[in-house]
Amino acid sequence: MATLPLHPLSTNSIPKVSLQEISLSYKTSSGQRLLALDHIDLKVNPGEFVCIVGPSGCGKSTLLHLIAGLQPPTSGCVLVDDNRVEGPGTDRILIFQDLGLFPWLKVGENVEFGMKMKGMSKAERREKTEYYLRLVHLSQFKDSYTHQLSGGMRQRVALARALATEPDVLLMDEPFAALDAQTRDLLHDELERIWAETGRTIIFVTHNVREAVRLGDRVVLFTFRPGRIKREFLIDLPRPRHLEDATVAQTAGEVLKELREEINRSLEVEYNEGVRPHVEPGAEQ
Ligand code: ADP
Ligand code: MG
Repeated sequence: MATLPLHPLSTNSIPKVSLQEISLSYKTSSGQRLLALDHIDLKVNPGEFVCIVGPSGCGKSTLLHLIAGLQPPTSGCVLVDDNRVEGPGTDRILIFQDLGLFPWLKVGENVEFGMKMKGMSKAERREKTEYYLRLVHLSQFKDSYTHQLSGGMRQRVALARALATEPDVLLMDEPFAALDAQTRDLLHDELERIWAETGRTIIFVTHNVREAVRLGDRVVLFTFRPGRIKREFLIDLPRPRHLEDATVAQTAGEVLKELREEINRSLEVEYNEGVRPHVEPGAEQ
């Protein structure tokens, strides 16, 4: 099988996504401020596949929401193609674990839905629906309802729907977490193939380190609250990769060693904290 292209970090191109000194704090129910993300600097190159890992509660979903433009940072800025993100845009799309497919629509209609929202003509929608269903190997299920499909197939419908709107950046929030191991394995292969074919930029959040190393050009490890970048791992293993590759396992072991420190810290904090979250210095009201 041909080796899929790597998208190495280059120093001279404009990043597709650039996070500059991003911090975000939430107001908790007790009125205190909880610092979720703390001074995040991250550049993602066009066509790069970046995986974000970190313990639960370290701000991974928050980070994707910021890039999607669903919420503004408390300080710092998010740039896409050097333009400041001020809100949602059709150049970015967020795919959740909970896919948000419509059970009353057929598979093809679900795929068409996002394009309809984007105002594409019927003819264009038809053509792209055919194309993207073919890409995820679901052409023959175009007229099925989503409840007639397996979990993995539904995930592929969601992927086709997202890809059909032709966003430059795919933001994926633990999309495969609820699937069984074999289905996840197949979807890794599909996602890697589709990424190579379409050249999209992917930012993929997972708490599964092996999955991150299997998929990513780069794995960015976050600390537990507040979320900071603890370390970045450049994964220059040849593609296609497999979860069971010895090299994948070995690299994942290195990442896991560091992640464990954060998980232990998170357990300690949650145990001691009970009700006392991390509070920004000077932010108590
Ligand atoms: P992750 O996706 O890594 O598990 P999140 O981004 O969901 O983490 O959350 C980061 C932190 O911010 C967590 O401590 C979470 O409880 C808190 N948080 C997330 N959303 C809100 C919100 N809307 N209001 C208050 N706190 C929030
Ligand atoms: Mg999350």
